[in-house]
Amino acid sequence: MDSPARWPPTCSLPRPDVLERAVETLPGVGPAVRRKLARLGLLTIGDVLGHRPRRYESSAEERTIAELFGDDEAVLDVTVRRASGRRRGRLHILTAHVGDTTGEIRATWFNQPWLEPKLVPGTRLRLRGKPNRFGFQVSSFDLGDGVETADFAPVYPSTADLAQKTLRTVTEAALPLARAGGEPLPAGVRHAETLPLRADAVVGIHRPRSEEEAENARRRLALDELLTLQLALRRRAVERETLVAEALPPAGELVARYRDVLPFTLTRGQEDAIAELDAELGRTIPMQRLLQGDVGSGKTAVALYALLRAVEAGRQGALMAPTETLAEQHFLTVEGLCGALGVRVALLTSSVGARERRVVHQLVASGDVGIAVGTHALIQREVEFADLAVAVVDEQHRFGVEQRAALAEGRSPHVLHMTATPIPRTLALTVYGDLSVSEISAPPANRKPIVTARVTEERSAEAYSRLRRHLDEGRQAYVVCPLVEGSETTLARAAEDEAARMRANELRDYRVGCVHGRLKTPERRAVMAAFTAGELDVLVATTVIEVGVDVPNATIMIVQEADRFGLAQLHQLRGRVGRGAEQSYCLLVSRHRDEVSEPANERLEAMVASTDGFELAERDLEIRGEGQLVGARQSGLTDLRFTRLRADRDLLERAKSLAEKLAGDPILEAAADRLLGEAPHVGES
Ligand code: ADP
Ligand code: MG
Repeated sequence: MDSPARWPPTCSLPRPDVLERAVETLPGVGPAVRRKLARLGLLTIGDVLGHRPRRYESSAEERTIAELFGDDEAVLDVTVRRASGRRRGRLHILTAHVGDTTGEIRATWFNQPWLEPKLVPGTRLRLRGKPNRFGFQVSSFDLGDGVETADFAPVYPSTADLAQKTLRTVTEAALPLARAGGEPLPAGVRHAETLPLRADAVVGIHRPRSEEEAENARRRLALDELLTLQLALRRRAVERETLVAEALPPAGELVARYRDVLPFTLTRGQEDAIAELDAELGRTIPMQRLLQGDVGSGKTAVALYALLRAVEAGRQGALMAPTETLAEQHFLTVEGLCGALGVRVALLTSSVGARERRVVHQLVASGDVGIAVGTHALIQREVEFADLAVAVVDEQHRFGVEQRAALAEGRSPHVLHMTATPIPRTLALTVYGDLSVSEISAPPANRKPIVTARVTEERSAEAYSRLRRHLDEGRQAYVVCPLVEGSETTLARAAEDEAARMRANELRDYRVGCVHGRLKTPERRAVMAAFTAGELDVLVATTVIEVGVDVPNATIMIVQEADRFGLAQLHQLRGRVGRGAEQSYCLLVSRHRDEVSEPANERLEAMVASTDGFELAERDLEIRGEGQLVGARQSGLTDLRFTRLRADRDLLERAKSLAEKLAGDPILEAAADRLLGEAPHVGES
């Protein structure tokens, strides 16, 4: 064979700048399309190539008109004989008589008047659709050859004003540039894993010839993505090693007394977590530990232990919570215990008055306060700690990365992140790869698992009589209002109305309070205090009670229209009961099985079947499909686009071992740069 006059460049020569080019550099993309693409976050050619189809069209047989049968989907290759459009009211109907060598058929389009001038006789068309009694019902078409009618045509996540056709055309225009991304995987690895070239995978994900090809392509891109993630996480870990914290001296007399004043003995899980953090507090590398533990597992006691370790070293601790209710609740708990220990505690939230706030700032700055508890107010510029040694972030997923980082800014405290939306440990290690993970896997032993039942709306009266029985025995209850569409104010009004309705009906003879997100701080505090003190029997609430309410005497919860809530949310809500030694109940009122969606049924069934947060987290992933992992955003890293965390665990393992081998690869490292560039992180500043 003769060699060509000029050898084409090798496929692995990366030209990353090409992928950085704006979408407008693609043919056919003007300002209007650019704006629509931007709404999907697609700014560059690389973004377009990385926009993963949600699914693919099925394959349809190519047939001639004579071969059309029944209402089977088919693709026709035809020419236009004649076409005409007409209006009927607001509807535009375009009819074309099209034919091939075997016959003629009538094809119809609705509301596409722009197409009429293009359907001049003799034009070649590919039509995809189904025969019906009027002719051929077109679902997609191409003028000449094209991608619309192709088998496995991609269906992209999109917005209402951006047609699939446009997305397909734009992607099509970008595909020839796929090679610019380069090939980070050495041939040996690729062969061993039987994975396609990266550029082929990019083409494969957008224009697969089979479902299998699409899946192979996805796995290849998932591996690249996981590799990048691993490299980024490794780098973060290395960077953190260079930060220096002061090692805390070993646990001493104060924490020993703390164990004595606690009204309970710590569980095995709590003790293990404490041992793990003790080991890290004694090092000069700042601790970055994630404490996972189901709702009610007793994370606060562990947090307070860590804070007291700082105090006994003559230094300070800070506990940050996402809501005022939770911060106040923590303050009461912490202050109660610390009073007996002679440790000074301060509360800092945005509703603390200006004068008092100045005083607190001063006490924190002078070191007179040992432990500061608060909301975001703790990370305001004016707040100076004399010597912050340990910071705890509760319900950490509720904070942005920047907020968590701000707590550590300019200092290198040991940080404990806590979360009650646990994810399976293997996944946690991926997503939070640079954090060490502690788990409290079992609740305190005196707990009885909460009994959960699903109740249809028609029988909700029975749920309320059950609730009244609890009240008559001196227990307390929660009623969670439906999630209504609209603003916080709409929600608040709905909750107020519901409370009023109940005071007049089901709960006539009881003391009913109401909390929602629109209450002013003093009112909210008053209601919460009254409920805690047993002066209210029932708390009618929106999801604001999801975190931070700890009333062990509350033993029953009714969730109205439970099918509207997410699984994690239901589990969090349910965690408000079952906090004491009494048997507790959670009644999920919902429409009939046939009236709610399949996933909603599955969520409710999962709630009834399990009270284990880890198990429910797994189930949630299953129900939502690959979905987005709760944790991905929490870690501050971009969501994984190609990875299906459950199905791809094998890839995840491989990515971990490959990351060692491939560290330093320019393509992957550049990708890791981008990932980290978007994601500042605690302790990095
Ligand atoms: P979470 O992990 O959801 O933050 P909390 O720390 O609020 O849980 O604890 C839930 C409840 O369990 C609190 O009322 C707390 O006093 C109680 N608790 C915590 N640890 C124990 C224990 N070891 N034994 C008995 N009760 C405990
Ligand atoms: Mg908690």
